[in-house]
Amino acid sequence: MQTHFNPVTPEVLAALRQAVGDKYVKTDEDCLTAYQTDEEGNSHFFQKPEVVVFPGTTEEVAQIVKLANTYVVPITPRAAGTGVACGAIPIYKGIVVELERMNKILTLDAENMYAVCQPGVLTGDLQREAKKYGLLYAGDPSSSDSCQIGGNVANNAGGNKAVRYGTTRHQIYSLQVVTPTGEIVTVGGRLQKCSSGLCLEQLIAGSEGILGIITEITLRLRPLPPYAFNMVCVFTDDTAAFALPNKILKAGINPTSIEYMDREALQMTCKFLDMSMPHVQEGCSYVIVTVETFDEAELDRKMEQLCDLAEQNGSIDEFEADKRIWTLRKQFAEAARNIDKMYQAEDFVVPLDKISAITAQLPELREKYDLYCVTVAHIGDGNIHVLPLNNKGLSPEAWFEKIKEFHRDLFPRVYALGGKMSGEHGIGYKKRDEFARCTSAEELQLIRSIKRAWDPKQIMNPGKLIAVE
Ligand SMILES: Cc1cc2nc3c(=O)[nH]c(=O)nc-3n(C[C@H](O)[C@H](O)[C@H](O)COP(=O)(O)OP(=O)(O)OC[C@H]3O[C@@H](n4cnc5c(N)ncnc54)[C@H](O)[C@@H]3O)c2cc1C
Repeated sequence: MQTHFNPVTPEVLAALRQAVGDKYVKTDEDCLTAYQTDEEGNSHFFQKPEVVVFPGTTEEVAQIVKLANTYVVPITPRAAGTGVACGAIPIYKGIVVELERMNKILTLDAENMYAVCQPGVLTGDLQREAKKYGLLYAGDPSSSDSCQIGGNVANNAGGNKAVRYGTTRHQIYSLQVVTPTGEIVTVGGRLQKCSSGLCLEQLIAGSEGILGIITEITLRLRPLPPYAFNMVCVFTDDTAAFALPNKILKAGINPTSIEYMDREALQMTCKFLDMSMPHVQEGCSYVIVTVETFDEAELDRKMEQLCDLAEQNGSIDEFEADKRIWTLRKQFAEAARNIDKMYQAEDFVVPLDKISAITAQLPELREKYDLYCVTVAHIGDGNIHVLPLNNKGLSPEAWFEKIKEFHRDLFPRVYALGGKMSGEHGIGYKKRDEFARCTSAEELQLIRSIKRAWDPKQIMNPGKLIAVE
C-alpha cells in the first residue's frame, strides 16, 4: 500500500529508546511476529509492526505520539489483543504502542462507587476487586479474563450484562487521552449529569483508537445485587426463542442478561468442555436469563413470572442452572477456535423486534455460500454472533473471499431492518470497506472531518474504521 507514512528509522528508534528506556523498545523478530495479529486467525490480515514500545506512563505515551507526528510514522494502540475486527493489527506497520505495563487500579473508592484505572487493567481484575467491596463493575465481555479496560473503552465492548447496565460507554465517567498530536487531555467528569460542552468522552469511547490513546479511565461502580438466578429456557422452535426477550423486558422483569445459544453452539461447546447439559443431545436451543435483585422475595416472584412467560411463549422446559452455564456461554468462542482458528465472528445488531426477521434469512445465506455456522447471541440486546467456521479447510485467501461475498449479501439485509454490522466488536480493518458501503456518504464525511481535525497527519491507528485519505 502506498502512503505518506515514513518507515521507522534508526533515528526514530533512538528517540523512542530515549523516551521509554531501552528495554521497553523491542524490534526482535519474535516480538514483531507476536504483534502481527490480534484475535484474528486468518493470515490474510497479518502485518508485523517495525517496533513495539511498552510505555509506563501517560507522559511517555505523549512523547511517543509526538515523535510519531514529527517523523510521520503510524501508531497502533494495543491492549490485550483479543479484538476480533483486526483493530490492533498495524496494517501500515510503524509503531505498536502496547499498554500492558499501565495496569494499575489507581483508586477504588467504595464509598463513592467509582474506580480510576490505567488502560492495561484486566477487566476481570477490576470486577473481582470491586466485588471485594460489595460492588459491581458492570462491563462484562465474555473475554473479561483476557481483555483490558482500555481495549473495552476503545471498542465500547458489550457483553453479558448490557441488558441491565449498558455497554462499556455507560460505565464511563471520564477519560484521560493522549490526542493524535500528543497533547494530554482529560474529558468528562465524575458527574451524574452534565450539559457543559461536547460529550467528548463518549465520542472517544468506541472510536477504536483512531482519536487518541486512552491512558486513564474513571469508571462507575454499582451496588452488587446479593440475590440471583440463572434460568435456562429450552426451545425447539427458534422463532419462539427470539420473541422471548422483548416479552421479558416488557414484563418489567429487568434481567441482567438474556443470552441465546443454538443447537450447534451448545453441542460444540459441551463437547469441547466435556460437559453434559439437559436437552442438548435432543437438538434444542437455550435462552439463558439472569436476574439479580436486592430482595429475596422479589427474586422468587420474578422467577415464577419468567417461567410462566417462557412456557406461554413456547419453551418446552425451564431449569435453574448453576454458574457452569456461564462457563458454557463464555467458552463458546474457544470451542469455535478449537475447530477453526480462522472462525469469523459476525456481530450484527438489530432492533429486538427484528431478530426473527434477520435470523429467518440465515439458512438461505448459509446454503447460498455453503457455510457451516454456529450461533450465539446477546439476544436481550439484539446482538447476534453467527460464526461461520472454515470446516472445509479453505486456504486463507479463499476463506477471505468467501466471507467477503457473504458480508456483501448479509449486511445490506441487516441495515434494511434498521440494524448495524457491529454491536460490540467494532469495525476495525476487517469490516471497514463494508462499513463504507453500508453507511451514508454524509455520515462518512462527518467521521472523516472529525478524524482530520483530531489527527491531521492520520498517524493514529490508520486504516481502521475509515480508510486513510
Ligand atoms: C473469547 C472472546 C470473547 C469475547 N467476548 C466479547 C463480548 O462478549 N463482548 C465484546 O464486546 N467483545 C468480546 N470479545 C472481543 C474483545 O475481547 C473486545 O473487543 C475487547 O474489548 C478487546 O479488548 P482488548 O483489551 O483485547 O483490546 P485490543 O484487541 O488490544 O484492542 C481493541 C481496539 O482498541 C484499540 N485500543 C486498545 N487500547 C487502546 C487505548 N488504550 N487507547 C486507544 N485505543 C486502544 C486498539 O487499537 C484496537 O482497535 C471477545 C473476544 C474473545 C476472544
